[in-house]
Amino acid sequence: MPQSSPLSWVNVPVNSDFTWHNLPFGIFSDAKAGPRVGVAIGEDILDLAALRQLGFLMHLPPEVLENAVLNDLIALGKSTTLALRHTLQDWLRADKPTLQPYAPQILVSQKEAQLHLPLKIGDYTDFYSSLEHATNVGAMFRDPKNALLPNWRHLPVGYHGRASSIIVSGTPIHRPLGQTKADEAEMPDFGPSRLLDFELEMAFVVGKSTTLGQRISTAEAEDYIFGLVLFNDWSARDIQKWEYVPLGPFLGKSFASSLSPWVVMLEALEPFRSPGPVQEPAVLPYLRFDGLKNYDIQLEVAIQAQHQSPQVVCQSNFKYMYWNMCQQLAHHSVNGCNFNVGDLCASGTISGPQAHQYGSMLELTWRGTKPIPMPDGTERRFIQDYDTVIMKGFAEKDGLRVGFGEVRGQILPSQPA
Ligand code: CA
Repeated sequence: MPQSSPLSWVNVPVNSDFTWHNLPFGIFSDAKAGPRVGVAIGEDILDLAALRQLGFLMHLPPEVLENAVLNDLIALGKSTTLALRHTLQDWLRADKPTLQPYAPQILVSQKEAQLHLPLKIGDYTDFYSSLEHATNVGAMFRDPKNALLPNWRHLPVGYHGRASSIIVSGTPIHRPLGQTKADEAEMPDFGPSRLLDFELEMAFVVGKSTTLGQRISTAEAEDYIFGLVLFNDWSARDIQKWEYVPLGPFLGKSFASSLSPWVVMLEALEPFRSPGPVQEPAVLPYLRFDGLKNYDIQLEVAIQAQHQSPQVVCQSNFKYMYWNMCQQLAHHSVNGCNFNVGDLCASGTISGPQAHQYGSMLELTWRGTKPIPMPDGTERRFIQDYDTVIMKGFAEKDGLRVGFGEVRGQILPSQPA
């Protein structure tokens, strides 16, 4: 395959997400050894534990690299992880082939590796920060003329999700069972969810801990963000609808959330900063910020029925977010709530202004009233058994590409109750 650029001595195919600019971190294993830290480049993984064994990266404790999660490496701090990023970029340059003779020992083909959940996630928070998504859902479930609740433009709404059921891309999910109640029915019913949905989201990984009582300002917030991943917040709409009043999402969300395996460092996204939507009315002082805090990241969702080709159903962009990550962190910590390295904050469904940019089936099919045609002649209102949902994302500008790979998950039939 041709090189997209001569930047690295490692082959990077055209349109690869994992360019020399990107170098995302993940956890992988293969026939040679168990889970360890790696960096994706092209179609390979640079094995950092193997590099350490060969006498490189001697300043890093070996147990940080021979580790089943990234938390301990991230906890060394941004000065260390950024220096590591720059060192690796230097070693991978086409004109600096220091490592090239070691290629057979330090490069592992992604095809031959298994990717693991890259983090020990202590706490997970899901925001609700897309104006378009909140407006669409409010219009469908409440009043089209008054779709946004009074608090929405004043604070980044969120809830505490379940960290234990976050799974890595590729892990199949059984359709959840639960209580539902049809509008016309007197009593609730129990059984498999009939309205299973995805939510297209991105999530950021907290890279620096705080102590109880400590606040993070919007100006400091980027220092606390290690990197980003793609995130599918699977949602059972019928379970959600019956249970969510008055305390919010519970079992309609907590059965599973899927994460992409490669964590893209925030600094790799620097060239793709973008202005966010104008915030009106003006936000309270602790939510004000300077500079560009949104990122232009193209996002796509496809549904693949069994034995069929994937059908793209949504094309959105992370730049549409009304509330940015710095505001989310500032708000989350303003009451003194503390953070730990590896905590995850998801954006909320990322819908754009146009109908093909809606980030969930609930919105794309407008509650099932506008089904989406599939290549095999069937149609989808929600996700059916054996469907695979595939989300992809990348940023591209001036010949520079930084991608996230994908997060995918297949829905299997419910397990017997
Ligand atoms: Ca969500």
